[in-house]
Amino acid sequence: MDGLRFQCVPGCTACCEQKGNVYLSEADILKAARFLKMEPQDFERKYIYRTRHQIRLRKPPEASCHFLAQGRCTIHPAKPTQCRLFPFWPELVEHPAQWKAAGQYCPGIGQGDLVQIGSAVEMASQMHTAYPSLYPVSPSAKISPKG
Ligand code: SF4
Ligand code: SF4
Repeated sequence: MDGLRFQCVPGCTACCEQKGNVYLSEADILKAARFLKMEPQDFERKYIYRTRHQIRLRKPPEASCHFLAQGRCTIHPAKPTQCRLFPFWPELVEHPAQWKAAGQYCPGIGQGDLVQIGSAVEMASQMHTAYPSLYPVSPSAKISPKG
């Protein structure tokens, strides 16, 4: 495989509407809080569910994400790492069948310019850095943040 084609489709929010959790790094919390002009502890109290090893967004009762409103991400410039990198997640970049399967709901997969595999792997590696508990062993860890 030489590369992967992807180009995000303006106005699409399909990835935000998938089942699964949105995980954050500590840096993601600071960035989003700053964007919303909130104190990090206030942001955390309102939006975050934290366990010993993981930090994720709380889910509103009737929606997939607090920040999905009027057909867009209302914290787009400061969205969490996994949202920023999608679909260049290790479990998709490293497994062609899963990349293809993600194309069932992401209309941007298979479109646009070819992203060289080295660049795709480099982007995916940012997920390991941001979420060490989700990708604990090797780049082949198969835990899906949205699964
Ligand atoms: S934070 Fe933004 S990009 Fe991420 S799931 Fe929520 S609405 Fe979508
Ligand atoms: S599903 Fe794909 S095309 Fe749609 S917003 Fe997400 S990344 Fe972009």
